[in-house]
Amino acid sequence: MSDRKTVLITGASRGIGAETARIFAEKGYAVGINYRNSKERAESLAAELRGLGVPVKLYPADVSCRDQVDRMVEDFLGDFGRMDVLVCNAGIARQELFTDVTESDWREMLGVNLDGVFHCCQAALPDMIRRKAGKIITLSSMWGQVGASCEVAYSAAKAGVIGLTKALAKEVGPSGVTVNCVAPGVIETEMNGLLSQETKDALAEETPLERMGTPRDVAEAIWFLASEAGSFFTGQVLAPNGGFII
Ligand code: NAP
Repeated sequence: MSDRKTVLITGASRGIGAETARIFAEKGYAVGINYRNSKERAESLAAELRGLGVPVKLYPADVSCRDQVDRMVEDFLGDFGRMDVLVCNAGIARQELFTDVTESDWREMLGVNLDGVFHCCQAALPDMIRRKAGKIITLSSMWGQVGASCEVAYSAAKAGVIGLTKALAKEVGPSGVTVNCVAPGVIETEMNGLLSQETKDALAEETPLERMGTPRDVAEAIWFLASEAGSFFTGQVLAPNGGFII
């Protein structure tokens, strides 16, 4: 087995996940890129990262589907031999009045944002526990910490991710595995693509650091938790949000 460390990042075809893949590749990691729909973008990112001289593999899978996640993790372990870091980043968001949320909207939001984390952690952990080593980083949101109007399902799922992270950290700490959460503020990605410039300006104004965050701001926090420097952190929520919530 190679000495090169490995990372699997869900939802890495674009946005925060893609930038996280870039950081790990820059640090010399072998990178597994998961995506659901954006095949061309995932392939183009893979080509970019291979240019840095690291092994890269693509794993198309819907994280809300247990069997697809199991296959993805099995394939990753077959390709790379072990999983040092798992970043549960894949996510979706939707703004709607709570009274308009349908049963299927609710199931989809919880299915991707919370069940997805459950599936990936449960599939990845046996290998980590066997080796008594591993780092899991989950993605929540400041809305999972304080709640957002018109995003009740998203806030509920992201609050669930924080609960999952804290409880799992206690359970697997003695097995040498750390589990931490990154809860970003408002970040310039396609997830916020429908926001008007006026709304973006207002959000930046409401932020003490007077700007929206970049995918790099979040990817650096994820990298810190995965790096040696973050090795005494577990069960924590790190919040790159420019001071939006304190
Ligand atoms: P984004 O630009 O919309 O990208 C979302 C990524 O998730 C894409 O790569 C997408 O892949 C993937 N994805 C979505 N559903 C999936 C599924 N069922 N299975 C596998 N992959 C799936 O979002 P982002 O802004 O980078 O957000 C990344 C994470 O940060 C999310 O968990 C989000 O909730 C969280 N976050 C974002 C913000 C923000 O302001 N942007 C703030 C707080 C937290 P495809 O393109 O292939 O579908």
